[in-house]
Amino acid sequence: MKSNFKKLISVIFVSAVAVSFLAARFALPRFTVQAHPAQSIAPREELRAFAAIEPIDTHVHAFKSDPEFTDLMSRLRLHLLDICVADNHGIYGELATELARAQGFVASSQGHARLCVTFDPYSFQRKGYSQDIIKQLRQEFADGAIAVKIWKNIGMEIKTPDGRYVMPDDPIFEPIYRAIAAENKTLVAHVAEPSSCWQPPNPDSPDYDYYKENPQWYMYLHPDHPRKEVILAARDHLLAENPKLRVVGAHLGSMETDVDEIAKRFDRYPNFAVDTAARMEYLMIQPRDKVRNFLIKYQDRVVYGTDLEFLNDESTADALKEWKETYARDWKFLSTDEKLPYKGRQIEGLNLPEPVVRRIFHDNAVRWIPGITPPSK
Ligand SMILES: [Zn+2]
Repeated sequence: MKSNFKKLISVIFVSAVAVSFLAARFALPRFTVQAHPAQSIAPREELRAFAAIEPIDTHVHAFKSDPEFTDLMSRLRLHLLDICVADNHGIYGELATELARAQGFVASSQGHARLCVTFDPYSFQRKGYSQDIIKQLRQEFADGAIAVKIWKNIGMEIKTPDGRYVMPDDPIFEPIYRAIAAENKTLVAHVAEPSSCWQPPNPDSPDYDYYKENPQWYMYLHPDHPRKEVILAARDHLLAENPKLRVVGAHLGSMETDVDEIAKRFDRYPNFAVDTAARMEYLMIQPRDKVRNFLIKYQDRVVYGTDLEFLNDESTADALKEWKETYARDWKFLSTDEKLPYKGRQIEGLNLPEPVVRRIFHDNAVRWIPGITPPSK
């Protein structure tokens, strides 16, 4: 009875949100034609400058091997960190399949890609869990992996049998973090989500479409799940407890709406950096001078990442187009003062000093994720 009632309430709630998504869409003023980067950017010149810096993209999900793609990496002099994700929603398939595909991609990359592995967080209650994971990771490091990813399911999805959410600083993971640090590898931590995940649908939000398509991750629909502050506090605790562990907070460390929040963590935790993956738009819509000053002040702490995907069932031509457009756009935004279209607005590029651009696109990744470029360099 009780659970039926709960179900009914949640159906009503989901429907209400769906309606408000629709309403929001139709409320869009007719004249805001969605700007399409393909039409407004002639990538050739940007890509030439991008390639000259020997760029490193520290956050991609590539699971298909294709000589045409390898050719792109070589023309762009591009280095990639290919990241595996352990989820049970099937975004990239079974973990073993995903890992095999990622290994295939790295093997075919002619030295352009390195592997970031992950571990199964769902089986955390198994006897000997931490030791088994450490054993697995050590083997993967020996085979060439240079980083380990944890994902938002820790903190937002996985629960103990008594109903408590497992947080990123859970003692069960502590020995694993210590082992990663002892092996001089890097933890890539996608912890929590953008703040819009807990807020009503808003078509102006960069994540509007994602939550429309992924209601299971839309915490506005699941008010019984932990609040963002609670999850980030656990992440901060992890940073404090593991000063020897290098942590790259994926997606601007989920502090995407205000660079001051990132700055506070940088001041507190010298072992912490962030990547820009899938959050460049948030840097584009914050006040330009504030973002520019932040990137100059903390020029050693931000690594370039995109969250671009190259999936097994995807057309290589489509992927090549999207990757090139994204790199061209990001280059234009960070290193020139040209205008970029974003949701009907014109955003002025940050025109960062050349040494800062070089650090964000290359140097920082070399330091924060050792092994990302071949040692012969
Ligand atoms: Zn990602």
